[in-house]
Amino acid sequence: MMPSNYIIAEDVESKNVIKEKIKNAKKDLENISREILERKKVYKVNECSMPKLKSAINKAFNKFGRTTKPFYADKNKCISCGKCAKTCPTSCITLVNGYPVWSRKCYQCLRCINYCPKEAIQYGKSTEKRGRYNIEKYLD
Ligand code: SF4
Ligand code: SF4
Repeated sequence: MMPSNYIIAEDVESKNVIKEKIKNAKKDLENISREILERKKVYKVNECSMPKLKSAINKAFNKFGRTTKPFYADKNKCISCGKCAKTCPTSCITLVNGYPVWSRKCYQCLRCINYCPKEAIQYGKSTEKRGRYNIEKYLD
């Protein structure tokens, strides 16, 4: 389980919770690596409640919820570095007159908003008062 980066819905977790999750994830990865190397057959699925309902909700989210319309960059903060455009996995961001503009194909991975070095990107009003999470801040 990794720290939450979905700042559209909720604020980032506390630093202690984030560090703990990353520490546990490292241990899990070591175990998974060992199991792969040993070619062990394992079944480790964290089955949730109401999986069918949640899958249906996820389908609806993929169809209707991944809109890029609320994205914008605060022109007082943006330094036109282009990092958001360069690192978007769907290449849906282009810089126009030095500022990012979003097209439609978005995974809502929130890499752009969490990695902007100036915290210039917002998603409507929901992210204005929230922190930003990216793992680079926590790697030694
Ligand atoms: S990463 Fe941030 S500062 Fe850089 S161009 Fe995008 S919005 Fe502007
Ligand atoms: S949320 Fe992810 S996919 Fe969508 S625009 Fe930002 S970086 Fe690209």
